[in-house]
Amino acid sequence: MYSLRMTIIRDAIPSFEFSMPVVVIGAGACGLTAALAARDAGVEVLVLERDKRPWGSTSMSLGAVCGVNSAAQKAAGINDSVDTFISDVMDKTEGRADPLLTRLVGEHSGEVLDWLSSEHQVPLLLDFKWVGLGHSHPRLHIPPGRNGEELLALLSNACARAGVEIMTEARVVALYADSTDRVVGVRIERPDGIEDLGCEQLILATCGFGGNHEWVAQHIPEMARAQYFGHEGNQGDGILWGLELGAAVGDMSAYQGLGTLADPQQVVVPHPLMIEGGFLVNSRGQRFTHELANISGMCVPVLEQPGGTAWVIFDRKRHDTCLAHSVEQQQLVEVGAIKEASSWAELETLCQLPAGSLTAENAHIDAARKNATADRLGRDFSGLASLQPPFCAVKVTGALFHTQGGLQVNDEAAVVRADGRRLPNLYAGGGAARGVSGPDVTGYLPAMGLCMAITLGAIAGRSAARAACAVE
Ligand SMILES: Cc1cc2nc3c(=O)[nH]c(=O)nc-3n(C[C@H](O)[C@H](O)[C@H](O)COP(=O)(O)OP(=O)(O)OC[C@H]3O[C@@H](n4cnc5c(N)ncnc54)[C@H](O)[C@@H]3O)c2cc1C
Repeated sequence: MYSLRMTIIRDAIPSFEFSMPVVVIGAGACGLTAALAARDAGVEVLVLERDKRPWGSTSMSLGAVCGVNSAAQKAAGINDSVDTFISDVMDKTEGRADPLLTRLVGEHSGEVLDWLSSEHQVPLLLDFKWVGLGHSHPRLHIPPGRNGEELLALLSNACARAGVEIMTEARVVALYADSTDRVVGVRIERPDGIEDLGCEQLILATCGFGGNHEWVAQHIPEMARAQYFGHEGNQGDGILWGLELGAAVGDMSAYQGLGTLADPQQVVVPHPLMIEGGFLVNSRGQRFTHELANISGMCVPVLEQPGGTAWVIFDRKRHDTCLAHSVEQQQLVEVGAIKEASSWAELETLCQLPAGSLTAENAHIDAARKNATADRLGRDFSGLASLQPPFCAVKVTGALFHTQGGLQVNDEAAVVRADGRRLPNLYAGGGAARGVSGPDVTGYLPAMGLCMAITLGAIAGRSAARAACAVE
């Protein structure tokens, strides 16, 4: 089923010149959080990162992290609960998410965000723009600058202050394991050659397999020909090692997609434009989907449209509001992706849409709004002001953002086999681990990718540190 490269070396294990109590592979949100947690427990930790500088999908993200029962929620008077979160996840996934993993994340996500903010100067502010969309309460926590690059910088700075060592240009190409499947070291490819390093505990924070086109075609055939808009370094290395060591994987067909990647400029069109009343049309000028029903799954209907593209339609007022707080909206302006016109007819010409098409779709929405009923696609626009000139449009396509399936972990973020027995000293989090999105694209709740990275990262770091101390 899996095309396994033999990347677990079981014989000819070298005597390692250097060994670390805890080694983390991958310097995204998961790896850096795991390293911070291990350091807080007083353990030496080394992070190995293949790139010249830590970047990962984390830097490409919007930086929004789901957290349940956080201090920020409590301060805002929000009465969230683990059970409400579990119920939201199960509603979204039609009961197909792993229940134990969902509870684990519900119980720890808020506490982990509080720890990052109070102990490590990683402030994540509760956001009220992304409400609804499957979360019963505001749960998205976003860095002040509202982007993933800032989140990664905050975590990197925290690691530097805590004394976490990050070795860059250090791609792990193989693990050394003994006959009990205990990982005893890693083989690292560096610009000046190959190095070996011993380890007592290993945390896999190598994200998913979105950059591995063969695996995407195998597990997510519907996205085999779609663009991948995540970090190319996410080749599924950690998942592969886990499999070779006998680990179980789950929900390998799950993923987060998005139907609103500016085409060809490759900038994510901020979703609040749509939440506030914008809509999508295809190249025939026709709406084809309820734009808020399934943000992640919207990549599928968009890719099904002629040419695999669509137009996001909004107005200048919404653009200005968004511009004030969205780096992506600023980028859309900078790259000239936004078309603007003083009338529907002019916008139709600019976007080469059939004459009268936008006028007709907007009139349909206005009529449904006036009657306070859902429109023909089931979307209710009541409470949202109608679009006013000047009108705006951005051409978009659908893309794969990140995969959601991966290694099965237990409540210590330790990687387990199909029978539930854990591997001796292997942990995983973030995109390398199974998520809580069920088996397909429809189950992804906003901000769960970073939530799984940060929450499981912290749990993995604490567990690995405990195990390392027990060994000493
Ligand atoms: C455009 C976009 C927007 C998104 N927005 C959000 C959002 O707002 N909220 C949210 O929750 N999620 C979002 N996501 C998803 C989110 O970015 C990921 O779920 C999250 O970043 C995963 O974190 P990670 O630490 O597991 O992986 P990453 O951040 O990708 O880090 C993995 C690291 O491992 C390194 N690595 C891989 N293999 C090796 C190896 N063999 N040796 C050494 N290093 C290796 C990689 O180079 C990389 O730096 C978004 C994704 C995209 C693409």
